[in-house]
Amino acid sequence: MKLDQLEKSGREAIESVTTIQQYINGTFTVPASGKFFTNISPFTNEKINEVAAGGKEDIDQAVMAARSAFKGEWGTMKIEERMKYIYKIADVIDEHIDEIAPLESFDTGLPLAQTKKMVARAAQNFRFYAEMVKSRLVGEAYQVDDQFINYTIYKPVGIAGLITPWNAPFMLETWKIAPALATGNTVILKPAEWSPLTANRLAEIIDKVGLPDGVFNIVHGYGEEAGAALVAHEDVELISFTGETTTGVEIMKNGADSLKQFSMELGGKSPIIVFDDADFERALDACVWGIFSFNGERCTANSRLYVHESIQEEFINRLKERVSNIRVGDPMDETTQIGPLIHKNHYENVRSYLELAKDEGAELYSGQIPADVESGNFVAPTLILNAEQEMRVVQEEIFGPVLAVMTFKEEEEVIQKANGVRYGLAGYVWTDNIKRGHRVAQKIDSGMLWVNSQNVRDLRIPFGGAKHSGIGREGGHYAFEFYTEAQVVHVALEDHYIPQFGK
Ligand code: NAD
Repeated sequence: MKLDQLEKSGREAIESVTTIQQYINGTFTVPASGKFFTNISPFTNEKINEVAAGGKEDIDQAVMAARSAFKGEWGTMKIEERMKYIYKIADVIDEHIDEIAPLESFDTGLPLAQTKKMVARAAQNFRFYAEMVKSRLVGEAYQVDDQFINYTIYKPVGIAGLITPWNAPFMLETWKIAPALATGNTVILKPAEWSPLTANRLAEIIDKVGLPDGVFNIVHGYGEEAGAALVAHEDVELISFTGETTTGVEIMKNGADSLKQFSMELGGKSPIIVFDDADFERALDACVWGIFSFNGERCTANSRLYVHESIQEEFINRLKERVSNIRVGDPMDETTQIGPLIHKNHYENVRSYLELAKDEGAELYSGQIPADVESGNFVAPTLILNAEQEMRVVQEEIFGPVLAVMTFKEEEEVIQKANGVRYGLAGYVWTDNIKRGHRVAQKIDSGMLWVNSQNVRDLRIPFGGAKHSGIGREGGHYAFEFYTEAQVVHVALEDHYIPQFGK
């Protein structure tokens, strides 16, 4: 690994990685069971470190700490003071970008050039929510003639349980933590077991910022143990989950008995539709970036291409050229475009889909993996050519650098095909016909659509999926619907009529 080329602070951060403990009530502690699991490098498949394997007892302790913080200092803190903490977290993240980004790449295999951008976005998440709470967390008031006034206020809900995946860990964790804390809740984070390093760094940052004890807690561990205990806990009001659809279903069942509120950000199999009048070069750039960035481990990846048949030959030829030239390699090398997949199990899963594609009658076209990185979980960027709508490789989320390529003739046909999967997270439409762009975008059953654009979004806009891609929306003021409880206060302004039963 090219550690020697990293900035000194990045190298130091990686070299100083040691055993990871829980962060509960402002203290780093060993798990109650005393058990740890081994965290493995995606690049070498060698051990990175040991990580606390949390369970029910750790969750119980974290919940006690979070409840006491919620009832105590944090719950009664003036908003200006609370926001000072939120801004401070953003500042300290910014000060440490050159440590956190390499740590993230080291742990996940995501290329460094991409993790640097993700980490900068993480700091922005805190600033953004501090500003949103001050400007947009507003109630309504209704005057009912001269008799009543009804008004609404928004209160924090309590303890937010946040369960996050490994594909963009730091960014996705902060995406939940920032609105949860800014609105006044306390937090228990259960990070993904395959990417614990930057979550732990975040705990260190928050510890340094001096947030009151118990406001922010991390319980590391397996989903089926630590995650499940958090979901089932009677005293946790909210679960915000990002991960696979099947896990989301399981979590909703397990949280039903304690009547949890859920936000679910789940899997995707998003289409990119390229019409014959599209800006060919830009559509090509966006298509390649959209599926091969983040190693293809991206929930909003355009993993299904529908290209108009009149341009398909040229478009596919150019795609092949790009795929052959994508730089696969060491995630620590700033010129790398695709790094190793997160874990051997995930690698095997992606590889099994490539075998399945062949069994289903499709043809594969793949780029190159340099010989000197063979110990890593590398999957070359791959096109599944001659794919057909009903194939499993078109219907199921592969979550790797793999693009299913299909063609179409008519607008109605492609809309049906785009909608013909169980997912509905994102979609991309490329056309120079503005009417068609809007028309097709609006007919696609997904939470988010981009027209002539790659996946860039303003933080004020809602994020989330339709169908099996999720429930609810995060982002902007939409996060308030989840992290706050609306309360209405009805006040009488005069002595109105009250029925006098039994008088
Ligand atoms: P995953 O579902 O395997 O795990 C996600 C988290 O859930 C992990 O922290 C895991 O430990 C925990 N978990 C697992 N079983 C649990 C249980 N029974 N109870 C409680 N917690 C449990 O997902 P992953 O493999 O880490 O992430 C990849 C998936 O995430 C993909 O499907 C991807 O599309 C999705 N994703 C969605 C979005 C979105 O915004 N829609 C964003 C990123 C990733």
